[in-house]
This record gives sequence, structure tokens and C-alpha cells, in this order.
Amino acid sequence: MSDYILVLDEGTTSTRAMLFASDGVLVASAQEQLTQHYPQAGWVEHDPREIWDKTLACAQAIMPKAGGAAMIACIGITNQRETVVAWDRQTGEPLTNAIVWQDRRTEPFCAELRAGGHEAGVQERTGLLLDPYFSGTKMRWMLDNVAEVRAAAEKGTLAFGTIESWLVFKLTGGAAHITDASNASRTLLMGLEDGQFDEGLCDLFGVPRAALPGVVDTCGPLAMTATDLFGRSIPITGLAGDQQAATVGQGCLAPGQTKATYGTGAFVLTCQGGRIPRSKNRLLGTVLTQLDGQRTYAIEGSVFVAGSLVQWLRDSLGIVEVASETEALARSIPDSGGVVIVPALAGLGAPHWRAEARGVIAGLSFASGKAQLARAALEAMAHQTHDLATAFAADGAPWASLRIDGGMSANDWMAQDLADVLGITVERPGFVETTALGAAMLAAAGAGLYPDLASACQTMRGRLSTFEPTMADEVRDARLAAWRKALAAA
Ligand code: ADP
Repeated sequence: MSDYILVLDEGTTSTRAMLFASDGVLVASAQEQLTQHYPQAGWVEHDPREIWDKTLACAQAIMPKAGGAAMIACIGITNQRETVVAWDRQTGEPLTNAIVWQDRRTEPFCAELRAGGHEAGVQERTGLLLDPYFSGTKMRWMLDNVAEVRAAAEKGTLAFGTIESWLVFKLTGGAAHITDASNASRTLLMGLEDGQFDEGLCDLFGVPRAALPGVVDTCGPLAMTATDLFGRSIPITGLAGDQQAATVGQGCLAPGQTKATYGTGAFVLTCQGGRIPRSKNRLLGTVLTQLDGQRTYAIEGSVFVAGSLVQWLRDSLGIVEVASETEALARSIPDSGGVVIVPALAGLGAPHWRAEARGVIAGLSFASGKAQLARAALEAMAHQTHDLATAFAADGAPWASLRIDGGMSANDWMAQDLADVLGITVERPGFVETTALGAAMLAAAGAGLYPDLASACQTMRGRLSTFEPTMADEVRDARLAAWRKALAAA
């Protein structure tokens, strides 16, 4: 029976192939590191050929562990979002390096568009803000600055795409130039309302619509791999950006269901069902999934500093040797002794958006030591998340519960503190690779291994740990009041 699911997880620092059994159990994985190119301050590039070569190498390396390509039922792809590749559809070769999501080179063009009064209209149509992060201005930059890209546009052979689009093009031997709606919703060129690239937005950003891929569902019979790659043609049945895949992997498919990934920073998405998010608090509206042309939306917010605060305690202050020691330190005292940390070490993200803000440690006394600082650092995660929860609720997306993942979610003390401060149940899956798992769920549902996505999620999601709120209201209120005071100082 060919019932393994092959997931290609193409991240920012590495590319992986992972083999899942149809019940969601990870069977094998292969990984390769990606070269980061920094040609100038603020610029970040990847070589699209290296991405393709390493993705294919990982996929081929893992095949024998499934017992050969005949045992693979389907392929799901999840990817670093917003990163743009430009290639020639005739030669199948990239025309320049990919511009990565972190790249800030298009800030002057964004500033020009903001000054031209375009932000409100763009946000209304796309759910996004005018920021270099998103793909549209990166495409325009390539057209303006790379002669080969401009020439291909004039010849009519230019193809633009995000990473999943590039991989599908190569996997199908150039037969399919498609993107899924979740990735397309990060380009600034797609209208949230109709899920298509929009002529007016393409004109505003100066991107020829003819160079863009066709927008397809996040799951279903999307494309077939070229026969020569794996010795057999395999259906590609799931595509999604990494944060959307993680949201699916956490089973957040109903309105209010929310996932938060605590890694270097924290990414939070709340499912909104079929309702298009309209944020008044500078949160983002995005497509979560598209099934049979029906879109489910999510509202998204991120904080810049999460695990990196713990890294700072470790590397710059030497308070801990390894990140996990913060848990025992936090447990060793009944409270932080009035110490509050505002982790604005790189400005403040959602919902404050203050790039110029800087970090604060408030409430120090002679009684403050390592334990108080470690505890205050972990408490800051709940405080920042509480601010996000307030903004999400104000935008009509209150959280039913919080499902956490990411490296920092392993900290049980932090998980309990999140439940206490937010006043909702916090759940953590036993298998924390939720991005890859979500891609596997989409692919499995798309291949018909399950009757629908919800049943794929239900079976494949696995065991959970649950944290219930127990904190007294007075304690929570005092914590949040102290946080707000320190935040004002930041
Ligand atoms: P990313 O994917 O952004 O690289 P990870 O998901 O691997 O990040 O998470 C790593 C981050 O989580 C690091 O910044 C580290 O400091 C923090 N971290 C890992 N384990 C713990 C722990 N047990 N307690 C607190 N912080 C932790």
C-alpha cells in the first residue's frame, strides 16, 4: 500500500524532507543547510538552484526508507514565506538570487507608497501592510535592477513565484506554474476577497500579472511530479506557507482556535473561518487554507523577541548555561520580587509597532538576582502574549484556547504561566514539528487518505499536554499593571 506522505519543508536556514505514515507518525527525515548570502547591510539572498538541488537530494535520500517511490501516496510542501524567485519558463533556470523575506532593500519603495497614501487601500484589499517583508516590492526591485529579469519580462518568459511555486515548477519538469492561496496572500498582489492576483495591485506595484503563477487550493490534486525524478509520477496534494501549515498542524481550523510558535520570536495565528479579517490594530489578515475554492482566513501577529531574550540571558549576562535552566530558576522563587522585563531589544512588534522602543528592566532591588531575572524573562512571554490577545479580541478574534509550539514551548513553567495570565487553556502537542505535520495533513486530505482536512487533523495530531489557568485574579491584575507601567517606560 502506498500510504506514506512525503513532506518537503523548505525553511530559511535549512531544507528538509520528512516521511510521515498516514496516522501522522514521523518515520524518517533528511536535512541540508542552506547558504545565506548577505551582499549588503539589510540584504538577504538565497540561491534558488541550491534550494532545488538540496530539496531534491533530501527527497531522493529518503525514498529508500519508504521502500521506494511506489510507497509514497502524495507530497506536501511547506515553505519560508514571502521569499521571491524569478526564473525563465523556457530554460527553467533562475534569473537572479532569491530575495529572502528578511531583506529590507525595498523600504524606500514602501515609504514612497505610504507617502502616496496607498497603505489603507492596500491593507483593505490584501490584509497586509506596506513593508519590505512582503513579496510584491521584491518583484518590482528585480524588474528595476536585474537586466535579465526585465528582458525576460519583455520576451514574455518571466516567471515569478514564492518558494513552493519554484519547487512545484521544478518537480513537475516545468509543467506547472502555480502558487497556493496561503502563499499568494503574502505577496501584496492578491485580493483577500476573491483569492486572485489583482490587476490594480499589480499596476500599483509595477509587476506584470502575466509573470505570476496561477493561484490554486492549499490541498487537492494540485500537480504531478515529472516521472524521471523519482522513477514514478507522484501527486503533489498539499501546499502552504510555514505559519499556515503550523496552524493546520495544531488543528486550528475553527474560528477562535489559535496557535503560537515560541522560537526566536513568536508567531500567533487565529483562525477566522470564512470571515475576512479587517484589523484596526495593525495585525495581518491572511489566507489560512483554500479547499475547493473556499477560503478560510486567519489573523496574524508576531512579537520580535521571545526565545532570543533567553538567549540574551545566557550569552550576554551568563545567568544560565542552557536555556532550559530558566525553568528551575523561575520555580525556585514564589514571584519575581517586582522585577519586570520589557523585551524590546529590537523594538516592539505587534500590537505596538514601535521600532524605536528599547528594552527595560524595572523594579530592581538588592534582593534581585539570577532567579528573579530568569523568572521575569519568562513572565514577559505571557505579558507580550496578553497584549496580542487583547489586540486580537479588539479585532473580533478572541482566543478560545492557545496551542503552543516552537523550541521555547518545551518550558512547562512558561506554558503554565501563559494559561494563568491569559486565563485560557494552553495545549502543547507531544510532536512539536507542527509545520511539517500540517503539510502532511494537507497532503493526506488532498490525496483522499482522509475524507476531509478536519478528520486528517483529528487522527494525525497526536497526544497533547494541557495547562489550565489557576492564578488568582488579583495576582494577574497586579502583574499586568506592573507590565503596563514598564511598557510605558520602554
Ligand atoms: P527558531 O526556530 O526561531 O530558531 P526554536 O523553535 O528552535 O527557534 O527555539 C529556540 C529558542 O527557544 C531559543 O531562543 C532558546 O533560547 C529558546 N528555548 C529553548 N528551550 C527553552 C526552554 N526550555 N526554556 C526557555 N527558552 C527555551
